[in-house]
Amino acid sequence: MTHRYSSELNKLFCQLAKTCPVQMVVNTAPPQGSVLRAIAIYKKSEHVAEVVRRCPHHERTPDTDVLAPPAHLIRVEGNMRAVYNQDDVAYRHSVMVPYEPPQLGAECTTILYNFMCNSSCMGGMNRRPILTIITLETHDGQLLGRRSFEVRVCACPGRDRKTEEGNLRKEQEAKTSDKTPSTTKRSFKESSSSNPRAESSKKAKLSNSSDEEIFTLHVRGKERYEMLKKINDSLELSDVVPPSDVDKYRQKLVSKSKKEKDGQTPEPKRGKKLMVKEEKSDSD
Ligand SMILES: [Zn+2]
Repeated sequence: MTHRYSSELNKLFCQLAKTCPVQMVVNTAPPQGSVLRAIAIYKKSEHVAEVVRRCPHHERTPDTDVLAPPAHLIRVEGNMRAVYNQDDVAYRHSVMVPYEPPQLGAECTTILYNFMCNSSCMGGMNRRPILTIITLETHDGQLLGRRSFEVRVCACPGRDRKTEEGNLRKEQEAKTSDKTPSTTKRSFKESSSSNPRAESSKKAKLSNSSDEEIFTLHVRGKERYEMLKKINDSLELSDVVPPSDVDKYRQKLVSKSKKEKDGQTPEPKRGKKLMVKEEKSDSD
């Protein structure tokens, strides 16, 4: 078994350089020329500013892919129209393919991704968890949809998935027996339900108007600039971090700053649903 997806954890477990089919579902067909972009970021707030890239060892190992730059972690397999990109501001790596409608009779478009380092690679991910963010964009970069999932690249995806799902259940049981029973399990289910809520649709609309406008700020001093940049990066990323993790960050922040706590925000549904294909044969 070279890859397994856990919906409970919203996490893909896969082996190094093996095929990971990801299914893209859209409610309405995007405009001509739209693209699907995949980008990896570090999940934990303390690493999020760092670019996810391959480790020096794997980067130097020669291989047969002529399109992919050797430092890129995520590749698209078997698509000559894949375009690899490094953005000018944050130097983050991404890979884009043109959006293609599902084939006749199919419900979704499938893209084959490869992850080109192990999560444990020294000098690379170095055991730091990552998120993969998939965005659907128009040809000029306007955001149409976005989904994200965690990825662990390891030798035994089946085993690791079982272990982590077991740990999650234990954690939830500990929580529910700690406080009054009810909240934990239900809120997890709610946030992953497919019913779009009023507030999420409002958010989706907003993002197409004034929220997307770009402003320029002049900052005196490198140190201050780095500080403000960090804040801005975090705000950008907070849009895509799963709600369960937002809560973890929040708890961390609470201890540092003010004692403020509010409920979970459901992950916004932006007209695109993304699933990772699950294999039916459960051999492990
Ligand atoms: Zn590596």
